Amino acid sequence: MKKGLWLIGLALSTTILYAQKHAPSNPYYSRTDTTKLQVPDKVWKTILPRELYLVAREGATETAFTGKYYEFDEKGTYYCAVCGNALFKATAKFATTCGWPSFFEPIRTNAVTYHTDRSYNMERTEVKCGRCEAHLGHVFEDGPEPTGKRYCMNSVSLDFEPFKKK
Ligand code: FE
Repeated sequence: MKKGLWLIGLALSTTILYAQKHAPSNPYYSRTDTTKLQVPDKVWKTILPRELYLVAREGATETAFTGKYYEFDEKGTYYCAVCGNALFKATAKFATTCGWPSFFEPIRTNAVTYHTDRSYNMERTEVKCGRCEAHLGHVFEDGPEPTGKRYCMNSVSLDFEPFKKK
């Protein structure tokens, strides 16, 4: 009996050590470093969870109404899930029926970059992270005041940090 327990303990600790060693860690993630990143997609592929990789690096779109931040109203800051760059304040988020979390402005002008996207026979403005160029979503001109913009974002590309309660 005692030997059995010892074996179970050994198996458990080996599993935990293995999981820790092989858990994907992201050395590029930082909430303070604003240096631009140039990391090849083949490297990101080994670091990022598959769902995030597909959206952030290959431009996939998460299914409407399924994202974790779509119907989400907490106060705090949204960061890039790939690199930790600050992207949006929760105060710029607004309720929408489009199916994705939407904001009327980024946290600062160069937090994001803009790119013409002519896929699917449309012309849209793609929004990428200003630090790591992760695909975040698109910006449209049908947002509310004060900007009239709707930054339509994939939840999976965002990383939310609530304000600390004092
Ligand atoms: Fe980023």
